[in-house]
Amino acid sequence: MLIVQKFGGTSVGDIERIRHVAKRCLATKNAGHDVAVVVSAMSGETNRLLEMSREFREDQNDREVDVIVSTGEQVTAGLLALAIRDLGGDAKSFLGHQVKILTDSSHARARIQSIDAEPLKACFKEGKIAVIAGFQGQDASGSITTLGRGGSDTTGVAIAAALGADHCEIYTDVEGIYTADPRIVPDASKIARICYEEMLDLASLGAKVLQLRAVEFGMNYNVPIHVRSTFSEAEGTWVMPAEDDMEEVVVSGIAAVRDEAKITIRDVPDSPGAAYRLFEPLSEAGICVDMIIQSQSRDGRTDMSFTVASGDHNRSIELLSTVCADLTGAGEFLASEAPVAKLSVVGVGMRSHSGVAGKMFRVLSEAEINIEMISTSEIKISVIIAEGRVDDAIVALHKAFDLHLPAPERSSI
Ligand code: ASP
Ligand code: MG
Repeated sequence: MLIVQKFGGTSVGDIERIRHVAKRCLATKNAGHDVAVVVSAMSGETNRLLEMSREFREDQNDREVDVIVSTGEQVTAGLLALAIRDLGGDAKSFLGHQVKILTDSSHARARIQSIDAEPLKACFKEGKIAVIAGFQGQDASGSITTLGRGGSDTTGVAIAAALGADHCEIYTDVEGIYTADPRIVPDASKIARICYEEMLDLASLGAKVLQLRAVEFGMNYNVPIHVRSTFSEAEGTWVMPAEDDMEEVVVSGIAAVRDEAKITIRDVPDSPGAAYRLFEPLSEAGICVDMIIQSQSRDGRTDMSFTVASGDHNRSIELLSTVCADLTGAGEFLASEAPVAKLSVVGVGMRSHSGVAGKMFRVLSEAEINIEMISTSEIKISVIIAEGRVDDAIVALHKAFDLHLPAPERSSI
């Protein structure tokens, strides 16, 4: 087989750990496989580099900042190649440009456009393990770019796609993807298999184990992703194409995004162009608007509510004040007083089971948690609730949906 193994920052956090990773890579190689390894920077290193660059430039979206922060991965790639050789194996390191990881020019959040897998194949032919620095690429002009925080996951899956690897293993400090954050729900269970669509939702709705772009790559190129622990031999979680029996599981996981702000604008004229005029200034300012709800119109007026990241709250209010005064005639719009969180339950089983929303709302009502907004898709239900109640809500829902039990033993809706 051809296997890509990606090791995160804690997995390569010090020299002893790098030695341990080298042993794991060699064991895979000695089992008869071709192995490409993608590494993150040692844990804390990217933050340290960013802090230094902030002495001169606050904004990370800068060519020179990428020159600085990409070095963390260069160090680990070289160290791991040496460690593998030290154990009697053979390995060669590659930086992003040496495998032509071509990206667009959006520094600090570049997207991969293509990869040249030939140098890696040549490396396998020589019987060597290829060690690739994650997180980095280069744009068409040759400038170094980085892929956003957690971007080595994406390098791993993209390299697997380019090589046509059998699968990509993502090694981390947890044993896989859990039904909820185990720090909040101690009896959360490890998910054995989850499909790309569910994982995309969980990753974008607050589960932090995998970078969202990595899941997108996996889905687009059909790369099975095995998320597992560096420090144990246990099977982790397979992120893979949907299989028929996956729909029997109604809820696969619960995730939450904290630190959002809800803004409500009252008495917006119910006429063409109103939403456009409200949201255009926000989108021009690069502010991501999340859940949007427009109320039923009465007397030709509606209320609009939406959420933004807390950090964008004040700017949003500023940007909206002129257009609001214009639109509503009164400039009367309200911001939420307390921070809110978006809580979501996700599961492909919702396609074929009804009653999930009903049960979710009952559980929240019994916990006396007020729902401020609701949105649904085919495989998820999200609610906006007070941030202070989000842990209670996760615990109650996890229990109500039997997520502590192995999937076949859970009661149906
Ligand atoms: N070193 C980068 C970060 O800390 C990329 C990664 O670890 O995936 O975000
Ligand atoms: Mg990471």
